[in-house]
Amino acid sequence: MVVSKKRVRSVCSYCGTGCGIELIVESRNGKSKVVGVSPQKTHPVSAGKLCVKGASVDKIINSSDRLEHPMVRNKKTGKLEKVSWERALDTVAKKLSEIKSTYGSNSLAVIASTKCSNEETYVTQKFARVVLGTNNIDNATRLCHAPTVYGLYEVFGRSAMTNSYADLAKSKYIIIFGENAATTQPIAFQKILECKKKGGRIVVVDVRMTETAEAADEFVQIKPNTDAILVAGMIKTIIDANLHDKKFIEKQTKGYDALVKSLEKFKMADVTKVTGVDEKTIKRIAKEYGKAKSAAIILGMGITQQSNGMETVQALASLALVTGNFGRPGTGINPLRGCDNVQGACDTGCLPNVYPGYASLTEKNIRRFEKFWRAQALPVSKGLSLTEVFEGVPERILGMYIIGQNPLMSLPDTDRLRKNIEGLEFLVVQDIFMTDVAEYADVVLPAACFAEKDGTITNSERRIQLLEKAADPPGKSMEDWWIVCEIAKRMSHNCAKQFEYKSSRDIFDEIRKCMPAYSGATYRKLKSVGGLQWPVSRENPEGTPILYKDGFGLGGPGSTEDRAVFYPIMFVGPRTYDHVFPFILTTHRLLQQYNTGTMSRHVKELQAAQPEPFVQINNKDAAELGVKDGEVVKIVSPFGDIRLKTRVTDKIQSKVLAVPNHYKEACPNRLIPANLDPISKIPALKFCNVRIEKIEKDEKQIE
Ligand code: SF4
Repeated sequence: MVVSKKRVRSVCSYCGTGCGIELIVESRNGKSKVVGVSPQKTHPVSAGKLCVKGASVDKIINSSDRLEHPMVRNKKTGKLEKVSWERALDTVAKKLSEIKSTYGSNSLAVIASTKCSNEETYVTQKFARVVLGTNNIDNATRLCHAPTVYGLYEVFGRSAMTNSYADLAKSKYIIIFGENAATTQPIAFQKILECKKKGGRIVVVDVRMTETAEAADEFVQIKPNTDAILVAGMIKTIIDANLHDKKFIEKQTKGYDALVKSLEKFKMADVTKVTGVDEKTIKRIAKEYGKAKSAAIILGMGITQQSNGMETVQALASLALVTGNFGRPGTGINPLRGCDNVQGACDTGCLPNVYPGYASLTEKNIRRFEKFWRAQALPVSKGLSLTEVFEGVPERILGMYIIGQNPLMSLPDTDRLRKNIEGLEFLVVQDIFMTDVAEYADVVLPAACFAEKDGTITNSERRIQLLEKAADPPGKSMEDWWIVCEIAKRMSHNCAKQFEYKSSRDIFDEIRKCMPAYSGATYRKLKSVGGLQWPVSRENPEGTPILYKDGFGLGGPGSTEDRAVFYPIMFVGPRTYDHVFPFILTTHRLLQQYNTGTMSRHVKELQAAQPEPFVQINNKDAAELGVKDGEVVKIVSPFGDIRLKTRVTDKIQSKVLAVPNHYKEACPNRLIPANLDPISKIPALKFCNVRIEKIEKDEKQIE
């Protein structure tokens, strides 16, 4: 038996930090297997470290639960049965073609995966537009950072973190809004903490005393979804104290007068009443931020998963703009994006309102892509978002192709969603594991995971990195780009040539030709440790760690005449008390679990560390309700109920409950209505009126 060992460079497949890993690969008689993982020592972000998820990422690859065969539902038995790829692909192509010709292109929708490579997300949106003929294409950013994508695009013409993790360490002042980076992006958080070690100050504004808040210099506890009001109070203080950067505002921005006018409605006493933060603290942190030589804002889903998420993101951008905190190390506005390739899925055009490279749906751009893809009549009108497509079932949407997503865990109002999914005429699900939504599919397609293919992914700080294939996928599973191209070729002989790729490198070369920000990145260049941060072009051949060094609107697709735009902030008074549902439910993520649990719950070590759901409840509230720590309770909203154990703590404020969103046995999204932010269409997953009930003895308890 011939045994050899090698190390293959790759990127952790969990969060948007994009830590560099080496997969340890053992080959026996020509068959390769990943047998371990270790950190890349010189990686620019992770520098030889991995968190508990990254350190066990190899367990996903070798899980015995991986999908290994294509399956088609037998109409007679109602069961999914293993079939050949030929049969599965023919079934998908035939059924999608039938729906398209009978009901039209817009009766179909595609959900792209934020865990696929850039090459795969690019091919997926091309398939939706060129073959299906629809802009009904979206990805999971709709559920996490859509307000960032839409909000920052309107302010700057670009939708991404302005600075880098590494240069945040050079900041003199970091203010973190609604992000528990210590658990969601633990390695990026180590970089953030370096600011403190170097004498800088870290302030955390959050609803809960999180692990991040505990490690910071100061924790400012705020009432749920009142951040925009607090930020308005901070901007007002900065202007009143003459700490604003007048020269910067005059030269590099527009809309300042409209912002100042909107602030007239904000009286500091009202800001305190609404946010729960005392006036002295608001004024002090505003002045500290305004006076700091370099101040950075970090934001997370506590900000974005709200029905006014986009307004708050733009208010935070205004806070940075009034003080001129851009284009220098340790400044800017820095959203920490969730999944490993959610940034790339957006960059490559898996959004219903833009083509690759954030090219808006203008006549000129559509003609450009028709020529580039040699396609006819590409869809012009805006498609439906991930949070809208299911509402259209079955009147408008009849067929759906879902790749690497489990909406039955990630979307709100899941009981109603389940009925909508049942109403689909045809559903294809492509994934690496069986998921709840796959149980409803007509066809299930098994996909290769990150370690089983070549490709690129783009992390939260715009870093494009190379994935190198370390092992063959299990069973009959195939790379996502291959599957999508095979369906495309079967559906349209006219377009077949447009999906005739030999490798992911072929696809990336096409991406470089239509996306200016990626134009200078080649596989050869990306082989260097840590890859390159976009834009990578002839002008920036080594990438761009800090955006807007030379001003805004750098010729990007949403160029705002070289000026960033201020947007007014709306005053909203205190929330009225709901007597039937007096608590506010918020959701959060744990260090040892990940999103819907599709990957992390298949890893024994992670599951053992955080095996079950729980609800955090304030000591005082628990005492009033007569609820003990560890007791099973029921949380009820008008949309459903869940049962789970309590964790009684003073880390959460009174009348607020917090539940992690990883466990299907107590999925908080079941309780949450589909209240959408009007433009970005994100649901308010961090804010839901609920009540908490003790479970009577004769009710069946979970244990
Ligand atoms: Fe993976 Fe994120 Fe942990 Fe890094 S911080 S090892 S990318 S989960």
